Amino acid sequence: MTSTITIPRPDDWHVHLRDDAMLDAVVGYTARRFRFAMVMPNLIPPLTSVAAAVAYRDKILASAPADSGDFRPVMALYASPEVDLDDLRTGIADGVVAAVKYYPAGATTNSEAGAASMRDLMPLYEVLADTGTRLLVHAESTDPTVDIFDREAHFLENQLAPLMDEMPELLVTVEHVSTAAGVELVRDRPGTAATITPHHLARERSDLLADGMRPDLYCKPVINSEADRVRLVEAATSGDPAFCLGTDSAPHPTTAKYGPKAKAGVFNAAYGLEVVAETFHSHGSLDALPAFASHNGCAIYGVDAPSDHITLVREPVDSELATQFTTSAGDEVVLFGVEEAMQWTVREADPKG
Ligand SMILES: [Zn+2]
Repeated sequence: MTSTITIPRPDDWHVHLRDDAMLDAVVGYTARRFRFAMVMPNLIPPLTSVAAAVAYRDKILASAPADSGDFRPVMALYASPEVDLDDLRTGIADGVVAAVKYYPAGATTNSEAGAASMRDLMPLYEVLADTGTRLLVHAESTDPTVDIFDREAHFLENQLAPLMDEMPELLVTVEHVSTAAGVELVRDRPGTAATITPHHLARERSDLLADGMRPDLYCKPVINSEADRVRLVEAATSGDPAFCLGTDSAPHPTTAKYGPKAKAGVFNAAYGLEVVAETFHSHGSLDALPAFASHNGCAIYGVDAPSDHITLVREPVDSELATQFTTSAGDEVVLFGVEEAMQWTVREADPKG
């Protein structure tokens, strides 16, 4: 089975870079490995204006290490009634705003400013449809009566699909698709795209819950069943141009992950690509990696393909890999995917952050 592959420099179409000391600690992992990074706007306060997005982008670039190469953060604004639609149009026209992200209020980290219903923001979607700008959707019901493992399917059926029926011209990316229902919605609706994370490709809910509860694997949407995982792997390895890599890398300090209520988020910027490579390799589909990690996202977001490449070789790493890092504020963060990263050497980029 092939175990070496050279791919155009990959992109990460969904990442949380946080702020301040955490930003300083994590940005290098993303900047050294990836070219484009779609940066999520769920800061405190959320990014609801072009000025805030520009300031954050500048801060990210100032924080990125000198050897970051061609790293290009692209910004998503936070879908909220606070967004001024003229400001949004200007930001899109100027190339500052690449997308707008919809969070159901309270679904995940710093999502309190989100809308209660997708229908609350129709004028904003009109601007997106007009300008061909994508709406990125965290598709997860916040209805407490809906079982946690059914929340993506419930949201798709009750919120997103009706909106898309009403506005077929709206371009949607279903973020971190985690279930068969998500894959089906994307396949059924041409023009719809989806990101898939390394952890949803490589883990299922028994990994999370069966052998000691694993806060490091706890994220939103929650890692779902093995049957769902298999459908995600099929979609990612199929070459279908609707599916691309978005790590959803989301660092939290161990004090927040291992307390009485674990925060949702997996930090995988460091080793996520190796996790995806191992998943594709196990599936006998390593040849499909360039489409998923490098080409599809560029086509979805209308950016040029990269000119530089990296090579992944499946040979065990003979040194110890870091299992966590510490920020300058003293916060420790656990790295996801060490097991897989031990099996892969990545060349021509600084591979281990
Ligand atoms: Zn996210």
